[in-house]
Amino acid sequence: MRFSRLLVPTTKETPNDATLASHIYLIRGGFIQSVGGSGLYNFLPLGKKVLDKVRAVVKEELDKVGCQEVSLSFVTPASLWKESGRFEKYGKELLRFKDRKNNDFILGPTHEEMMVNLVRQTVKSYKQLPLNLYQINLKFRDEIRPRFGLMRGREFLMKDGYSFHASSEDMKREFDLMETTYKKIFSRLGLEFRVVEADSGAIGGSGSKEFMVLADSGEDTIVVCDKCDYGANIEAAVRKEKGCEVEAPEAIFSKFHTPDTKTIEALSAFFHVDPYYLVKTVAKKALYDEDRSEVVLFALRGSDELQEVKACNAVNANDLVDITEEELTEIGLVPGYMGPTTAPEGVKVVYDYNMKDADSMICGSNEEAYHLVGNSFKGVDADFADLVAVQEGDLCSCCGSPLRYTKGIEAGHIFQLGTQYSEPLGATFLDENGKAQPMVMGTYGIGVSRLLAAIIEQNHDDRGCIWTKESAPFDLQIIVSNIKDEAQVTLGEKLYDSMLEKGVDVLLDERKDRFGAKMKDYELLGVPHAVVIGKKLADGLVEFVTRKGMLKDEVSVDEIETLLKERF
Ligand code: ATP
Ligand code: MG
Repeated sequence: MRFSRLLVPTTKETPNDATLASHIYLIRGGFIQSVGGSGLYNFLPLGKKVLDKVRAVVKEELDKVGCQEVSLSFVTPASLWKESGRFEKYGKELLRFKDRKNNDFILGPTHEEMMVNLVRQTVKSYKQLPLNLYQINLKFRDEIRPRFGLMRGREFLMKDGYSFHASSEDMKREFDLMETTYKKIFSRLGLEFRVVEADSGAIGGSGSKEFMVLADSGEDTIVVCDKCDYGANIEAAVRKEKGCEVEAPEAIFSKFHTPDTKTIEALSAFFHVDPYYLVKTVAKKALYDEDRSEVVLFALRGSDELQEVKACNAVNANDLVDITEEELTEIGLVPGYMGPTTAPEGVKVVYDYNMKDADSMICGSNEEAYHLVGNSFKGVDADFADLVAVQEGDLCSCCGSPLRYTKGIEAGHIFQLGTQYSEPLGATFLDENGKAQPMVMGTYGIGVSRLLAAIIEQNHDDRGCIWTKESAPFDLQIIVSNIKDEAQVTLGEKLYDSMLEKGVDVLLDERKDRFGAKMKDYELLGVPHAVVIGKKLADGLVEFVTRKGMLKDEVSVDEIETLLKERF
């Protein structure tokens, strides 16, 4: 490609809404263009090229292990989503609309229903299983806060795959195969990433894993162990059970006057007791289907923090929201003095697992200015769940080393679905005994357009993008410093032709512009390597540039072609 022919509107101006490097450079480098500033983007030629390269890596690795690509209709009849029950359940992120005949439709935010529909019409027997079908297509989610450019768009490109099996064992085999395949994909793209246990909602366990691209700007907090391989999203992280070096404050059960001690800190100071022996009682309103809601008290040790996603899963709610002091008072709870043992009738209490054998505990009495001491929770008949947010320094449940936090960008997600969709949608097959069974499913996503942002978050400097080998818009850029210098132009054209002939994806910058402007564009666009043909050509020298670190090697004209042939 010749730069003079390329539509690449680079600019020095940073878009107002952009804070992340990837957002800034993808816009400034003319890769993408915002449409109306609300999570919608046009891909310009360079952006489309990178997208296609990433897409090709994804496709190649998937096809190698027997996945088959299809392309599903983007506009989805709502009837399918009504069958699965998601038409009502899915929140405002789902774009619903009607056609001229008043039929309901949606724009797919994910395509489980569509894929199950395809398979239920075509697969009848166990002999046709297993099957792994995927597409690399548009998704639409009416995100409440689209931001960070391609990182969280409303319309975005996703690879979404779905596998169908005759048994759970076979689905687990495919799940592991997808984990291996995803690792290959992210490695080929030159990314530093970590596979972590993810929140699997009601399924629990290791039913779901996320692929996190490590970057300080990531929206997800992940908990990692540096000693072993353990990694988990904060929403799913577990730790080795925590003890306390300070001895338990022994006391017989009694009520204490504790004015103005509404926080764990105040209570700890008042009794001179480690927060480990205090009960933290957190009230939340749990929201369920059909506008149903209830107040729930979550009780955990005062030294721990509540993890809201875990808490939400513990009561099987759609969401947990905060409650005002007025609302608490209305149902008979005393803010600052709530306790799990004295909750008013009808208020649900869930205890954290670490409370199971808690003894000599101090908790609220649900009476203004009073706490109860000497509480034992040993053998209590109650609901227990894992409610704790793992903290940095807590110990790894696998190897006992300290855990730490890091930030990640969720680039992929694999999920053991089971029969959650095949059952309501009636996707069954006849097993070896001729008996109809629901297909067991797995689902596997990659944020293909988000990956462009993730690659740049991990690979940039203060001048612009540094694309990785397999994601780069071009393999090589040849920069002719001064197009009025005939010798420079002749060499540039010659190298360009020979590289094209070899099948190298090469960009020749033969524009009239000043040399400085051309180099600025080179740095901004981030092609991994360049040959700069400048003044030193008179001495028989050109420069071979590596974008990462802007390393410059002087190479003699006689050797440059050989060097390029070796490199590419
Ligand atoms: P997030 O937690 O970031 O909102 P998600 O868990 O809702 O993502 P999934 O349903 O798991 O997303 O979708 C599969 C993949 O699609 C994600 O791993 C992510 O890479 C990508 N993705 C999801 N939402 C967006 C978005 N709004 N813009 C770009 N990519 C997205
Ligand atoms: Mg996800």
